[in-house]
Amino acid sequence: MDPISPLEQALHAARALVLADLMAGEVAEADVVSLVEESVAQRRWWVEQWPDGACFVAGLVAQDVQDALLERYGRWPLCPVCGYGDPHALDVEPELGPDPHWVCSKAGVKVAPVGALARAAGGKPSS
Ligand SMILES: [Zn+2]
Repeated sequence: MDPISPLEQALHAARALVLADLMAGEVAEADVVSLVEESVAQRRWWVEQWPDGACFVAGLVAQDVQDALLERYGRWPLCPVCGYGDPHALDVEPELGPDPHWVCSKAGVKVAPVGALARAAGGKPSS
C-alpha cells in the first residue's frame, strides 16, 4: 500500500469537498466535474511549489470552480439564506486560508463550511 502524501491528501479532500457542494446544488454534471479536475490539476502544481499552502487548497479550488461556472452557467452557489432580493452567490472566506467557509456577504453570515453546503441548502438534519 502506497502511503499517500499530505499534499495528495489535501488535493483529494479539496476535490471531494467541492464536488459535494456541486452535488448539493445539483450541478455536478460531467463537464462541471471536469472543471474541478482542471482546478485540482492546476493547484497540484501550485501546492508543489508551496507545500505549506496545502490546507488552503479546498478554498482555492472552490473559488476556481466558482469562477469557471460564472463564465459558463452563472452564479454558484446561490445564497440559501436570503429569501428576498436578487439571487446572489456566496463567497469563500478566507480567500487564502485554512478551514474555508461559504459566506453570504449581504447578510454577513457564515452559511456552511466548504463541502457542507448540502446541509445549509434546505437539507434537513435527519430526525
Ligand atoms: Zn445572501
